[in-house]
Amino acid sequence: MAGTLFIISAPSGAGKTSLVTKLIERDSRIQASISSTTRPIRPGEEDGVNYHFLTTEAFQQKIDDGDFLEHAKVFDNYYGTSRSAVESTLAAEKDVILEIDWQGAQQVRKLIPDAISIFILPPSLKELERRLTGRGTDSQEVIQRRMDDAVSEMQHFDEFDYLVINNNFDIALNELHSIFMATRQRLKRQYAEHANMINELTQQN
Ligand code: GDP
Ligand code: ADP
Ligand code: 5GP
Repeated sequence: MAGTLFIISAPSGAGKTSLVTKLIERDSRIQASISSTTRPIRPGEEDGVNYHFLTTEAFQQKIDDGDFLEHAKVFDNYYGTSRSAVESTLAAEKDVILEIDWQGAQQVRKLIPDAISIFILPPSLKELERRLTGRGTDSQEVIQRRMDDAVSEMQHFDEFDYLVINNNFDIALNELHSIFMATRQRLKRQYAEHANMINELTQQN
C-alpha cells in the first residue's frame, strides 16, 4: 500500500524544519518533499537539499508545464511542490511530508482528501520573534515581514487535523512522531501490509 501524505504548516520560525529534520533522522519510513522556491538561498542552505532554488522565469515555466501539485506566493516569493517527486515517493511506500503554507495546504486537501494535516504553533509571539532572530538567517526587514504575517497564518490553524505546540522541542517531536505512528497502525494500512498473517490468524478450520 502506498504511503500517506502529511501536510505540516506553521508560521515561519515556529520550528517546523527543525522538527521535520529530527523526525526523518528518527524514522526512515518518512521523507520530506523538497520544494522549489524563488527566494534567495540562505547561508548554510544547499540547492537540491533544502529547496530547489529557481529564477522566477524557471518557476513560471514549471507552473505552465503543470509540474506542481500546488504552488503559492508566500512573503513575496513563490513556493511549489513537485507533483512527480511526491507521487514516486508515495509509490515507494514512504510517508511524505510537505512543509507548506496554509494556501498550499488548502490546495492539497482538495486534490488528496486523505492527506493528514498538522499545524505547529509557537508558545508565544515573543518566542517566535526570538527564534527568528536567533536562527540568524534573515535580515531584520525579512524577520519583520514574517512577524507581520504570523498572526494571519496562525488564524488558519482550525483547518488542520492535528495541532502541535512547539514549546519544549523534545516533547513536540514525540507528539509529532505519535501522529505518524498512529496513522501506520490504521486498520486499512495494517491489513494491506499483513494480509497473509491476518488471514491465517482469523481463518476458521
Ligand atoms: P521558514 O518557514 O522560516 O523555514 O521559511 P521558508 O522561507 O523556508 O518558507 C516560507 C513559507 O513558504 C512557509 O510558510 C512554508 O510553509 C512555505 N512553503 C515552503 N515550501 C512550500 C511549497 O512547496 N509550497 C507552498 N505552498 N508553500 C511552501
Ligand atoms: P521554521 O522552519 O518553522 O521556520 P526552524 O525549524 O528554522 O523554523 O526554527 C526556527 C529557530 O527556532 C531555529 O533556530 C531553531 O533552532 C529554533 N527552535 C525550534 N524549535 C525550538 C524550541 N522548541 N525551543 C527553542 N528553539 C527552537
Ligand atoms: P522559508 O523561506 O523560511 O524556508 O519558508 C517560508 C514559508 O514558505 C514557510 O512557512 C514554508 O512552510 C513555506 N513553504 C516552503 N515550501 C513551500 C511549498 O512548497 N509550498 C508552499 N505553499 N509553501 C511552502
